[in-house]
Amino acid sequence: MGGGGGRGKRSVRGRATPSTTAAEEEEEEEEERKREEGEGILATEEDLGEDDGEELQAAWVPRLRVRGRTRPRACQSRQPRMTPWRLLRCCQWTAAWVPVLFIAVVICWSYYTFVVELCLFTIAAQEEEGKAAIYLVIFHLSFVLFMWSYWKTIFTPPVCPSKEFFLSQSDEEHYEKEERPEVQQEILKRVAKELPVYTMTSTKLIRYCEKCQLIKPDRCHHCSVCNKCVLKMDHHCPWVNNCVGFSNYKYFLLFLFYSLVYCILVTTTVLEYFIKFWTTNLRNTRAQFHVLFLFFVATMFFISILSLFCYHLWLVGKNRTTIEAFRAPVFLNGPDKNGFSLGWSKNWRQVFGDEKKYWLFPIFTSLGDGVHFPTRLMMDKEHVTGTNHHEHTRRVYSLAQMVKNGAQELFQFWIDSKFFCWTT
Ligand SMILES: [Zn+2]
Ligand SMILES: [Zn+2]
Repeated sequence: MGGGGGRGKRSVRGRATPSTTAAEEEEEEEEERKREEGEGILATEEDLGEDDGEELQAAWVPRLRVRGRTRPRACQSRQPRMTPWRLLRCCQWTAAWVPVLFIAVVICWSYYTFVVELCLFTIAAQEEEGKAAIYLVIFHLSFVLFMWSYWKTIFTPPVCPSKEFFLSQSDEEHYEKEERPEVQQEILKRVAKELPVYTMTSTKLIRYCEKCQLIKPDRCHHCSVCNKCVLKMDHHCPWVNNCVGFSNYKYFLLFLFYSLVYCILVTTTVLEYFIKFWTTNLRNTRAQFHVLFLFFVATMFFISILSLFCYHLWLVGKNRTTIEAFRAPVFLNGPDKNGFSLGWSKNWRQVFGDEKKYWLFPIFTSLGDGVHFPTRLMMDKEHVTGTNHHEHTRRVYSLAQMVKNGAQELFQFWIDSKFFCWTT
């Protein structure tokens, strides 16, 4: 007990001093480990923050930072130990993939039922090979697009803010040491002045993530499941075990769209044989079971996905994320749900891009970089930190104009001098 008290002043950041013995270091490791276990608590309201959509997903959150600081020892442990906390995290990771696995099993089973039981064992067996071939071609086209968009939604990592949004080492230390919130805000304001930040918290403060230690770009939110800040975060989707945000929102929409296409295709083609199994002497007990079940499953998925898809189409038309639909982004003049709306057509282009030929393919074509977002009132509004965004644009423009005017004058002078030479 005495030993523990003697090291009470040990810096959270600091590594053991060079004079520390191996035994002492081992003891410290043990102490650190115990502390880690103690920290594995359910994220409190304070942890989840008040500004974000993170409370939409209250979950077990590994506290990777102590009061916002990275624990340096986390990656220095010499031997992996299966502590209860690690075991819990392992279980949590496995549990997160269960919905994805469930969907994958349903897709595989529907593929088997449609291709093998319906097309090969039922339709082709009735000497309707041509019909079976057409069904198979259309089915595989929609299946490939469906799987492609699903895959991209799952495995496209969410994009985090770039390094300029993080506080520098000195600012970070200054911020940590400072007790007064107003001085902390001054530090953040000074840093944010150089950044394209136009939204703020509901109390008109700079949006700052204590866990990632960064100034949140517009439309960026901290995901408590992924434990990081995600650009243009829409929501964390358990069905894809990924954050839906700037990097994969188009893929997510296409995933919903192709899911609907897949369900419609399966339901309409299966319906004929669904009726035949009951009304004619067409009998194949195994195929009958699979086909009937497939019809119900496809119909059920179609109904549930349709409402979600329609809601997201509405959001795209308004240029809103799910989080923004629940809580309007706050600009200098107050909350504005339509703050990022540029009109129906432009809003669609923000997500799907300018070239319509790529709209239906899960290829990244969204406009922008996930940090700069044109706003409806940008021309009239002042920068949140006091500088006018368009002042900068205007200055750049006037510089370009000056260069252009200078070149024109030079050219004119050259023409005039030539003319002067010719005439004299
Ligand atoms: Zn964060
Ligand atoms: Zn997430």
